[in-house]
Amino acid sequence: MSNQITLENIDNVLKFSTLFSSQDCHLYDIQTEPLTLEPYAYSQEFKRFIDAIYAENFIIPFDWISWQQEANRFEANPELINLADISTIQKLFTSHVRQERFCSGRLAQLINNGHFLTILQRLQAIRADFILENTEKSQPKNIMQRIKIIQGDITQLQVDATVNAANSSLLGGGGVDGAIHRAAGRELLVECRQLGGCETGEAKITKGYNLPAKWVIHTVGPVWEGGNQNEDVLLANCYANSLALAVQYQIKTIAFPAISTGVYSFPMERACKIAVTTVTKFLENPNSLEQVIFVCFGQSAYNSYTQAMREVAET
Ligand code: ADP
Repeated sequence: MSNQITLENIDNVLKFSTLFSSQDCHLYDIQTEPLTLEPYAYSQEFKRFIDAIYAENFIIPFDWISWQQEANRFEANPELINLADISTIQKLFTSHVRQERFCSGRLAQLINNGHFLTILQRLQAIRADFILENTEKSQPKNIMQRIKIIQGDITQLQVDATVNAANSSLLGGGGVDGAIHRAAGRELLVECRQLGGCETGEAKITKGYNLPAKWVIHTVGPVWEGGNQNEDVLLANCYANSLALAVQYQIKTIAFPAISTGVYSFPMERACKIAVTTVTKFLENPNSLEQVIFVCFGQSAYNSYTQAMREVAET
C-alpha cells in the first residue's frame, strides 16, 4: 500500500535526507549505464536513500509520466518549490524517483544540482509551519489580550453578541437599553415579551435583528443602594451569567456596556473593577471566548476601565 506523505510521517522522509547532502555525496563515483533497470549501483548512501523511500512506500501511484512536464517546470523554477504544498511535493518526489528507474543518473543529477534537496527543505518548512501553528493553538492568547476596552456606541459593533443592561421587565427602557431596542427594531421587543422578564444578576438571550450583532444577551444589573444590598455580587453575576450563556451559544466575541453605571447609579470605578475581575476569571478557561470588549460611553468610563485592567493585571 502506498503511503501519502502526511504531517505525521513527514519525519520519515526527512530522515532520508540525512543520508546525503549535495556537497558530500559523490553520486558519480560509480558511473552506471543510462537506461539500465538496475540503477542503484551508486554510492552506498544513495542506495540506502532509494531503498528507504521504496521500503516506506513513499512512491505514490499516479500518472507520473504525464506529470513529467509539470515536474520539469519545478526544476526550471526552484522558487516554485518553496510554495508547493505537501501533495505536490509528493508528486515531485514520486515522479523523480520513478524516472530514475528508467534513466539512471537522473536523480543523482537532481541531487547534485540541489533540486532534490530543495524538495526536502520544503518538506522541512511545511513541518516547521505545522509545529508553529499547533504550538500557537495550544497556547491560547494571554487573557489580557482577549480583552479590549473601546469608546463608542455598543449598537454599532460587529460582534457575535451585544450585552444589554436591561431592566427586569426586559421591555426596553432608557440608556443603553433604549439604544439597543431602537437599533434592533420592533422584533426585539416582540421576542423579549415572550421571555417573562429577568431577575437581577440573571441573563437571557434573544436574536439581534437589525443590530450588527447576531445575539443580544439581556442582563439586569443591580440598582445601587449604598453597597450593602449585595450589589457587588449581583453585578458580578450579570457578567458571569452573560458569559456562560455566550459560551452555551458558541459566541466568540461579546461586547459589554458598563452595566448599572447609568440610571442604576453603581459607582463607575467599583463597577469596572468587578467587570474586569469577573471577565478575567472567566477567561482563564482557554476555550471560553475569543474576545470580550468593554464599551465605554465617554472618557471617564474609559479611564476607569483601563485603571481596573492595570490593577487586575498587577495582581
Ligand atoms: P443601567 O440602568 O444598568 O445603569 P444605563 O443604560 O443607564 O444602564 O447605563 C449603563 C451604561 O451604559 C452607562 O455607563 C451609560 O453611559 C452606557 N451607555 C449608554 N448608552 C450606550 C451606548 N449606546 N453604548 C455603550 N454604552 C452606553
